[in-house]
Amino acid sequence: MADEPGAHLACPYCGAYGVTRLFLGSVRLDSCECTTCGARWDEDPTTGAFLGRSSRQSVLSRRRS
Ligand SMILES: [Zn+2]
Repeated sequence: MADEPGAHLACPYCGAYGVTRLFLGSVRLDSCECTTCGARWDEDPTTGAFLGRSSRQSVLSRRRS
């Protein structure tokens, strides 16, 4: 249950570990998606820095339980 510094191994929103990570070489981003809550966000693939929530689609509209 320890918080890992650097790259987000778990979803920063719900804390689940089912994170899909896709490296986007063209824009030098790691695009991450939580398979549990559906949140999407971007990370710097070098530093693991959190670059903000992705706005490619509304997360709220696809939130289901
Ligand atoms: Zn999540």
